[in-house]
Amino acid sequence: MAEIKEEKINNLEQAHLDFISTVSHELRTPLTSIRGFADTLLSSYDRLTPEQREKFLHIIKDQSNRLINLVENLLTVSKMQSEKELLIYKSVDVLPFIDSAIQMIKNQYKTHKYICNYEKNLPKILVDTDKFQQILLNLIDNASKYSNESSTVEIKVSQNYAKNTVIIAIKDEGIGISPEDINKIFNKFSRIDSPLTRKIQGNGLGLYITKTLVEKMNGKISVESSPKGSEFEIEFKIATPEDNAIKKIKE
Ligand code: ADP
Repeated sequence: MAEIKEEKINNLEQAHLDFISTVSHELRTPLTSIRGFADTLLSSYDRLTPEQREKFLHIIKDQSNRLINLVENLLTVSKMQSEKELLIYKSVDVLPFIDSAIQMIKNQYKTHKYICNYEKNLPKILVDTDKFQQILLNLIDNASKYSNESSTVEIKVSQNYAKNTVIIAIKDEGIGISPEDINKIFNKFSRIDSPLTRKIQGNGLGLYITKTLVEKMNGKISVESSPKGSEFEIEFKIATPEDNAIKKIKE
């Protein structure tokens, strides 16, 4: 019994050490790049062309954004694991949340096309609205960033009458995920290592956060993919009439 306990503690410690080592690596890479380019600008400012200066400043800005995203994601992971986090459930219509997520993402991916296919008279669902928005942003952002410029992202919303749920499907025409990799993508810090994904910025926390949040709200997430693109589906229970009152549920 004592041995099993000790093994569990060792595994936990190992997971902790792995986590610290991955986070340190993820922090060090952009920081090294920021320091390197800032050093070059300071030491060789007069010898650089205006184009070179601008290019280096853009790299510094991009790498700073990468750090901000990482820190925000780490804070979300830490909050998700904290006992104290409250989910504030509300009964809401799905479509305004999707429209607002698309509006936000469109600013970043100006040449992508976003097609919406909504079933009529959709019922409300019961979710924490901030978390629901974050889930939609993560999935629509991934659909956009792992696909070519000018490609189409389709968002379908329908009702599953048998299961009493609403299903949101986000389909892209992107690089796809191979069958060997598809089970790994929801793990913490998991990125698919390929020449295509290496060019795209990310820290491998988005889908881990997304899946954890969906499941915390008693929803389901699934994915299907081929070399022609991927389709992520999230599913939430329809709100009952009693749910229409705001509820605070402790996790
Ligand atoms: P990030 O995008 O920050 O790397 P995520 O956790 O959101 O992290 O995704 C994990 C990995 O899953 C990505 O690095 C990518 O390899 C793969 N992936 C996620 N969404 C898609 C998608 N829509 N199409 C292709 N690959 C995807």
